[in-house]
Amino acid sequence: MRLSEIPKSVEDLATDCEARLVARFAEIDETARTNTRRVLEAFQEFRVSDPCFAGTTGYGYDDMGRDTLDKIWARVFGAEEAIVRIGFVNGTHAIASAIFACLRPGETLLSVMGAPYDTLRTAIGISGDAFGSLAFYGIKYAQVETKDGSADLPAIIEAADRIRPGAVLVQRSRGYDSRRALTVEEIGEICTAVKEVSPDTVIMVDNCYGEFTGTLEPTMVGADLMAGSLIKNPGGGIAPTGGYVTGSKELVERAAFRLTVPGIGGECGSTLGNNRLLYQGLFLAPHTVAQALKTAALCAAMLETLGYKTEPAAEEPRSDIIQTVYLESADNMSRFCRGIQSGSPVDSYVTPEPWQMPGYDCEVIMAAGAFIQGASIELSADGPVREPYMVFLQGGLTYESGRLGVMAAISEMLDK
Ligand SMILES: *Cc1c(COP(=O)(O)O)cnc(C)c1O
Repeated sequence: MRLSEIPKSVEDLATDCEARLVARFAEIDETARTNTRRVLEAFQEFRVSDPCFAGTTGYGYDDMGRDTLDKIWARVFGAEEAIVRIGFVNGTHAIASAIFACLRPGETLLSVMGAPYDTLRTAIGISGDAFGSLAFYGIKYAQVETKDGSADLPAIIEAADRIRPGAVLVQRSRGYDSRRALTVEEIGEICTAVKEVSPDTVIMVDNCYGEFTGTLEPTMVGADLMAGSLIKNPGGGIAPTGGYVTGSKELVERAAFRLTVPGIGGECGSTLGNNRLLYQGLFLAPHTVAQALKTAALCAAMLETLGYKTEPAAEEPRSDIIQTVYLESADNMSRFCRGIQSGSPVDSYVTPEPWQMPGYDCEVIMAAGAFIQGASIELSADGPVREPYMVFLQGGLTYESGRLGVMAAISEMLDK
């Protein structure tokens, strides 16, 4: 679908929905203002200057930009220390390094929001028996299921009291589950409840997709450690790759040992000229996340008007950038994804087709036309082609482009 082919009726629908979303959008803007101020104050406190953007090569000793960004990151997220590195190949790598930092052989990792994100399962050793997984090193695993899509606090307390886990893993985002995202306040309640019965348990949060959706972050409400990806929210659409771990000094240092090697940790790791992109990405991130949140809310409002079910609903507060929509048929899924693709700045001419993705029991369809490979802070949509025909929409670097993508997707659906 060419953008010029979006019918006036769909433009009008978008405009009507925006009128309905005025109050929501104002709240999103207010969150972006608060977070931008926090980021800017940290930049100023640590005296960011041009030399911070010069990179190192080789061992990467004394990389002023890298070390200053770590301090800024810790300040922004209300933590003691952080490592922000292009050496983390993705979010899974950063999260797995953080989990390894929390546990000794013989201890148990307790996941409290059901099964963790797919890609972490092999690293933990829930699926497969990979050499070097947590299970390989004698770390046990247990999980508490969610209840009606929320944290089951009594069951979490019971399990924490009985198992006395070395670490509790909390996943903030819905990921690709049909539950809602945890609010940071709810994460705080989990921290308090677990520490009450098992004070030595470390709380580690998978914060992917959650950063800057609100004004609080898990490390401000009791989480000991937290990790995420730079090609999602906190990279602001600018960071070319990487991940971060932030939290208590001791745990972050241990995670750095896992990223590089014991004894070296975060002291090495050349930045190869990427520092400016990480700084600029963090600077833009509160704004970029607001763009993605507005795109998600608009998509929900338009589909609700057309009679489709959405999660969260258009006007609900959000704690991650994922929008789930239930499109009722495989044909609608294909059309929606085709429209998102055709509205992208990159690869707009390709047609997404369902394919048998490894690890799935059905075909999966994906639409993404991103500047950075796999960056899901950029507009993208995907879902397993089976009932209930769920599509997960996320991202949008600018609201204006996100709006066009959503309009193209809905135009394709209506063009039967
Ligand atoms: C994206 C994501 C991850 C990590 O995924 P990568 O693709 O490795 O960056 C982990 N947990 C959640 C909830 C995520 O959304």
